[in-house]
Amino acid sequence: MGRDNTRALVTGASRGIGAAVAEGLAADGFAVILNYRSRDAEAEAVAERIRAAGGEATLARFDVADADASAAAIAGLLQDPRPISVLVNNAGVAEDTPLVTMTRAQWTRVTRTTLDGFFNVTQPLAMPMIQNRWGRIVNIASVSGVIGNRGQVNYSAAKAGLIGATKALAQEMAKRKITVNAVAPGPIETEMLEGAPMEHILKAIPMRRVGTVEEVASTVRFLVSDGAAYITGQVIGISGGLG
Ligand code: NAP
Repeated sequence: MGRDNTRALVTGASRGIGAAVAEGLAADGFAVILNYRSRDAEAEAVAERIRAAGGEATLARFDVADADASAAAIAGLLQDPRPISVLVNNAGVAEDTPLVTMTRAQWTRVTRTTLDGFFNVTQPLAMPMIQNRWGRIVNIASVSGVIGNRGQVNYSAAKAGLIGATKALAQEMAKRKITVNAVAPGPIETEMLEGAPMEHILKAIPMRRVGTVEEVASTVRFLVSDGAAYITGQVIGISGGLG
């Protein structure tokens, strides 16, 4: 798998799910661009692991919620003649609290990172992808965006919005050999789960365990592969039966 001279951009790739997706796509032969917001050392460590395994990785630090920073960074990335034909919109944050105690800042940070982040990164890459006549966009949503989750009104709204964007963009891109899909993970063992009420969470999952980052990455790799060419506009749950 993998396409000669094709690059894959993974947002939020300094750790967690994004890092595993980036490592997987590099193993499939894509030159990977690792976006992240703040943690240089962790992003560099992911890039080093990819290079040690024989892959290609470059770093692109910018805040996907910042329109100007994203536009400038992506314009820079597009100077390289190799197309960016794979985009994984993974950057996301959670700030959980019931709506009655939610601040406007908590609402805004979560919705902007997911929804503005999707727009800021995907919009400037869409036309180059169309011109290249092949592409894959995978959006990392959440089971919370499908069934809702108490304490996550902001996060559930953002992820449901991302699913809507996935379905609409899939229709716009379908004739161009560009697929657009979402995955909806349940609880996955990353920093995002730190402090979460695990006993309560595990009871709700039919498989009675959380997922691994590799289990998300393997689904994303499949959606990027030629074998998934006829799948578009779909939301694939990765949740041990939850939702
Ligand atoms: P994580 O371990 O907290 O990692 C988040 C990553 O996103 C980091 O690389 C972080 O970069 C980056 N990031 C955050 N805000 C950003 C921004 N504004 N611009 C650019 N990068 C940004 O999270 P995760 O658990 O791997 O989650 C990854 C995605 O999966 C998220 O969209 C999340 O909503 C979704 N998801 C997670 C779970 C779960 O249970 N873990 C379940 C369902 C869905 P820095 O560290 O450099 O700031």
